[in-house]
Amino acid sequence: MQFQGQIRKMITENGQPIQYYLNLSHDLININQLIHKKIKIRHSGYECMNCSSDEKIFRMGFCKKCFFESPYASDTIIRPELSTAHLGIAERDLAVEQEIQLQPHIVYLAYTGDVKVGVTRESQVPTRWIDQGATFALAIAKTDNRYEAGMIEVALKAHLPDKTNWRKMLQDDFEDDLDLLDFRNKVAEYFPDDFRKFSMDNGNVVKLDYPYQAPEKITSFTLDKNPEFEGILTGIKGQYLQFEGGHFINVRAHEGYVATLEIMKNNPSIS
Ligand SMILES: [Zn+2]
Repeated sequence: MQFQGQIRKMITENGQPIQYYLNLSHDLININQLIHKKIKIRHSGYECMNCSSDEKIFRMGFCKKCFFESPYASDTIIRPELSTAHLGIAERDLAVEQEIQLQPHIVYLAYTGDVKVGVTRESQVPTRWIDQGATFALAIAKTDNRYEAGMIEVALKAHLPDKTNWRKMLQDDFEDDLDLLDFRNKVAEYFPDDFRKFSMDNGNVVKLDYPYQAPEKITSFTLDKNPEFEGILTGIKGQYLQFEGGHFINVRAHEGYVATLEIMKNNPSIS
């Protein structure tokens, strides 16, 4: 069986375990069903997520031109505290920025091998947590817009990491309960005074269950270095596919790549 198309980040459905769907040009393939099967991924080109050009992908699924011009790749996507739509000031395209920024946002703590702080639109909970490979997450503030959430994050990241260390995330097999509520109480004092009113003390710790077991060693590959990869799928965590031998590919980092996915017949020489 073979599928071909533009890679988009995997679609997820929270459950026990989380269900993952590979998104190839909007054809969804349930990947949990492919665990223990041999699959082959072959890179065949590019298709920008914004303009569909076949230029090489520069970053975040965009060609170079779109990365520097599209409002969907602007600085405030990565740095919410720079948001200005609430002041009516455009960065690249005010209408798009108002739509993205002027909606409820959540500041959260997530355990991804370390406890980190992050910001997301409320509508992206728990998707954002799953994409990062968090095993536990807790909403700690709810704001009216992206700027306010960004300001809280900036204050907290002086005390906590705000980036996911992918290797730690993949190495982690945290089984016991981690007390994120205790962390929340510790960081509460770091909220800027003007933003204290947004803090939430009624959030519940969410535990996320991945079809995954950490291997002994972890190596990652990209389709740039390895345009054709064949292996037995053994698990999924965050946006990573895990293959036998501890080989990983970050699907999200390949958004905009065009690829073929082939599900191989079971080879009797492989047990
Ligand atoms: Zn483009």
